[in-house]
Amino acid sequence: RQRLCWAPASGPVRLLRGPAALHPPPRPDRAALLAGTPAAAPAPPPAPHLFSDPAETEALRGDLLAWYDKCKRDLPWRRLAAMELDADRRAYAVWVSEIMLQQTQVATVIDYYNRWMQKWPTLQALAQASLEEVNELWAGLGYYSRGKRLQEAARKVVSELAGRMPRTAEDLQKLLPGVGRYTAGAIASISYGQATGVVDGNVIRVLCRLRCIGADSSSPAVLDHLWAMANALVDRSRPGDFNQALMELGATVCVPKAPLCGECPVKRHCQARRRKLFGKPTPVPDVEDCGVGGCPLCPPATEPWDSSLGVTNFPRKAAKKQPRAERTATCVLERRGCHGAPEFLIVQRPTSGLLAGLWEFPSLPLAQDLPQEQQREVLADHLRAWTGRPVAAGSLRLIGEVVHIFSHIHQTYVVYSLPLDGDVTLDPALSPSRWVTEEEFHASAVSTAMKKVL
Ligand code: SF4
Repeated sequence: RQRLCWAPASGPVRLLRGPAALHPPPRPDRAALLAGTPAAAPAPPPAPHLFSDPAETEALRGDLLAWYDKCKRDLPWRRLAAMELDADRRAYAVWVSEIMLQQTQVATVIDYYNRWMQKWPTLQALAQASLEEVNELWAGLGYYSRGKRLQEAARKVVSELAGRMPRTAEDLQKLLPGVGRYTAGAIASISYGQATGVVDGNVIRVLCRLRCIGADSSSPAVLDHLWAMANALVDRSRPGDFNQALMELGATVCVPKAPLCGECPVKRHCQARRRKLFGKPTPVPDVEDCGVGGCPLCPPATEPWDSSLGVTNFPRKAAKKQPRAERTATCVLERRGCHGAPEFLIVQRPTSGLLAGLWEFPSLPLAQDLPQEQQREVLADHLRAWTGRPVAAGSLRLIGEVVHIFSHIHQTYVVYSLPLDGDVTLDPALSPSRWVTEEEFHASAVSTAMKKVL
């Protein structure tokens, strides 16, 4: 475990790691330095961005865990982790929940999680599933590569690790594809009781507020500091509960826009709240600790504390890159099935890239600002390949536009429809394709965007 402390005051502020950080050298007194005599070592003042007082750390752990015991949400993965005696099954149950919860709200995940665990209660069961089945269950949850990677990793555990999950955060991260530092820490602390911290979006927000960290929270220097802090803070006897409590606090109390500071179990340890109430953090930091403008963890001098924002001054992030705009023409080809019910043609996307392996209506990326008539022409050309017969551009009926936001793409689908008479022979040389009823469409591995299109 590494801890971070401030360097002595000479030169630019920098972070120390390792033993030097645990026992920082005494800070030389400036007057004594100027006089050329060694100074008596004054105790370093409490650094505003650290938990340097062991008694405070203990108190914070106690406050947080007492609140968690009383207020924690009853969630299916928590029940499984508490009841399951087999370490591999327990780790698997936590792992699935952690992957599903990435970028997704708890309320959305619960139903998916229950269905998943019912269908594949063990690693071995998941390892035998097909990617198509995984995609079908994952449909609508978004970020589809998560399900695919989870299944690949389960296969690896079964085939290469004899079905035994790695037992430490370090090995989980090293050996399992798709398991990063956060997921490894969560599995190891919750399933095995390893005293290791976790840093996710909720933890970043809580820690940045507790310790007035206002530098870009996505920068490596700040993230290093937060990981070190999370590892130092985590309760040694209940690491899994402590980590979940910190994340729960961020999800339910220390929320992004209107945190409920009055109800917060750790408010007495919170520097941001003190600053809001009293105008300044207490104790007032030594200028040489926080370098006044040079501190890599304070808000930038150009964007200082804004009193109208209160505690939501923290955390701060560099401006997000705008998602790029894309347009795609998509055509709902419809025919009457054998019982007269409408059927739709869906085709499978490539096995890599965005929405890999999912099914969609035949679609074609469009150049921005392509006039509508030309859109029809290019789409009609494209559909000729699917239907095996000429398609007149004029027969395509423009239905409207559907906008769907992916994490990094602002996608507009320009939706056309084309009713077909008679049978259509699908070319087996093209991507896999099939006709589905509306019911079958919804049960297929199709994205939320395509459901909107239908
Ligand atoms: Fe967050 Fe407010 Fe609690 Fe501080 S007091 S940790 S800002 S909810």
